Amino acid sequence: MADISLTSVEKHFDGIPALHAISADIQDGEFIALLGPSGCGKSTLLRLLAGFEMPTAGTIRIGSTEMANAQTGRSVAPEARNIGFVFQSYALWPHMTVRRNVCYPLEVRGLPKAELIRQTDAALQATGLQQLAGRMPSELSGGQRQRVALARCLVSDPDAVLLDEPLANLDVALRASMQEVFTDFHSRTGATMVYVTHDQTEAMAMADRIAVMSEGRIVQFDTPETLYTQPRSRFVADFVGEGTVLPIHDVRHAGTQSQAQLYGAQITIQTDAQRPNLICLRPENIRITETGNLRSEVKRSTYLGGRYRLTLQLPNGMPLIAESQQRYAAGTQLGVSIDAPWAFAEA
Ligand code: ATP
Repeated sequence: MADISLTSVEKHFDGIPALHAISADIQDGEFIALLGPSGCGKSTLLRLLAGFEMPTAGTIRIGSTEMANAQTGRSVAPEARNIGFVFQSYALWPHMTVRRNVCYPLEVRGLPKAELIRQTDAALQATGLQQLAGRMPSELSGGQRQRVALARCLVSDPDAVLLDEPLANLDVALRASMQEVFTDFHSRTGATMVYVTHDQTEAMAMADRIAVMSEGRIVQFDTPETLYTQPRSRFVADFVGEGTVLPIHDVRHAGTQSQAQLYGAQITIQTDAQRPNLICLRPENIRITETGNLRSEVKRSTYLGGRYRLTLQLPNGMPLIAESQQRYAAGTQLGVSIDAPWAFAEA
């Protein structure tokens, strides 16, 4: 297994930048998600790591090997990078059984037969495929095919595994169970994994850290918890988790406590910025109380199972998302108090 280091990596297509000055370090054995909307550059970054594309500027190192250097023109071929790739389309050989699909990389390497059988059996077992080893890919479900792709990765003993939206073709229920297969695969192998997705719940459920991307840049690279509780931009606050971004004024710091004005109400905020101007209100920052210093009207109440999601509206028309054990009818006037939300500075 290996760590990965990207230094000032850029990629242009016909002079148009798809990635700008990407610098990031991924630890050996980390599970990283590249998360962002369509067109933000996730797949391009993955393809650069795999060696399918050459960077326009910058360097890429995997383990102790410099894989690409735009200045010297060095580029290690994809097959020489010892990297596993799992695609959305599974990329299985249709004319080979599950077992043959899995052991094929070992055949190509010319491994002795006994060793080949041992490693193939271990990979089939690790992915729960022993019973299906004799089937053809056409006789498998989407989730089972994806397991074959993982098992094939596993036998190759790669330094890193790159996954490009591997669950995009599966239905919602299967996606959830396949997430466990991926996290299990990660903990068994200790592989460094880079997983591309535009689905924030998928990224939050699996990754140790998430690189949130927008317009060819990594805008924040943090643990799921930090991205949720301490977003550093409106983009991340909106893209990761549910919440509302609102402007604050008259920020005052006194010791470890910071206060600000929100629509005329004094609130306590959490921040590490000198002059924060926005807060990210998560549902858990909003309490419904008789004495709440902001008034709001219930616009909609949705049952989530055990609790309700309330869409509230402040007198100035701004929406708020809160959660409550109790159902409130649309039109009910409620007091809300704001509980120490995260505040950040954005121009
Ligand atoms: P999606 O989630 O839709 O797959 P993405 O975040 O993976 O999107 P990329 O596929 O990396 O985005 O594309 C980033 C940008 O680079 C886009 O504007 C895309 O049009 C452009 N791009 C990607 N590959 C090429 C190419 N081979 N030639 C020209 N432009 C490209």
